[in-house]
Amino acid sequence: MREKKSFISNEKQSIIKHLFNTIIMSCKTNSIKIVCLSVFGFCAGVLLTCVLITTRRPDTRNGVGGFDAASEAESKEGLENLLSEVENLPALTESTEASTEITYQTYRVKSGDMIGYIADAFDITQDTIISVNNIKQSRLIQPGQYLKIPSMPGIVYTVKKDGETPATIAEKYKVNAEKCAMANSLTLETALKVGASIYVPDAELDWATRQEINGDLFKRPLHARYRLSSYYGWRKSPFNAGKRTFHGGIDMAISSGTPIYPALEGKVTAVGYNATYGNYVIITHHSGYKTLYGHMKSTACKKGNFVYTNTVIGYVGSTGMSTGPHLHFTVYKNGKTINPLTVLN
Ligand SMILES: [Zn+2]
Repeated sequence: MREKKSFISNEKQSIIKHLFNTIIMSCKTNSIKIVCLSVFGFCAGVLLTCVLITTRRPDTRNGVGGFDAASEAESKEGLENLLSEVENLPALTESTEASTEITYQTYRVKSGDMIGYIADAFDITQDTIISVNNIKQSRLIQPGQYLKIPSMPGIVYTVKKDGETPATIAEKYKVNAEKCAMANSLTLETALKVGASIYVPDAELDWATRQEINGDLFKRPLHARYRLSSYYGWRKSPFNAGKRTFHGGIDMAISSGTPIYPALEGKVTAVGYNATYGNYVIITHHSGYKTLYGHMKSTACKKGNFVYTNTVIGYVGSTGMSTGPHLHFTVYKNGKTINPLTVLN
């Protein structure tokens, strides 16, 4: 459309130029020149008006017939309609929200499905699916698995202490409190008991939780190539034949003296020596995480230091109950050990 218009005006322009040049060339005297120029000027004016009318006519613009005056009236009417719609909007929204309680449907995961695709298909968020289905690792959804799909985006919140209300929880996540109360058929001020679950519409998971679920919260504490010499869980005791002991971390075998780094930034809360772990360091992180690094040849940090994932905190050794140089690495979440391989990328 635009190209066509400019083509026409270019063509007209070149005609005008050509006419102008011809007139100038053909005129012998100044008086004839002036007359010719006046005539030409008048013609050019008429032509320009025609061009303007043609391009501004609504039928040329958008294929709908009508005059400028009518189209202006139409757009005014349209604007008034739009304004009245906007005015009606809050009332409409409120009345819908008043009856909006959360409902669920189930979805069976197909081969090749990813959480992001499923979320898009149901017009909810990845956080919603992860939270509602308590997914610990976003890569671990299996074909055939059933997922709960809520009718609106949001997350499930577990009440941390007695007396929290839909209003205080909504405030925490900066979402609409009325909507939060309605979704759960509660009032704004309903006091909830610790451990109760509430659906928080439009809320998103916090950064740490999302990183944890995506499996990239922690970095490897050894930056050089190592061998995983022992896994987390029950194992035959390497020191007491026939006895099974619980191994609360993983063993990473590597040459003595290799630098050790924090798996996540945090504050050094213990540096010491004991018979089991030899020289060890404990770091306290955000979100209820702690990490322990054992059997160090020597430590390189002090209690109270804030350390980053590029701070050397010690060197690999074989102190304490150890059969050779390796790093023993434990991850605690809220005081309990977890398998470090679930949080290491
Ligand atoms: Zn170990």
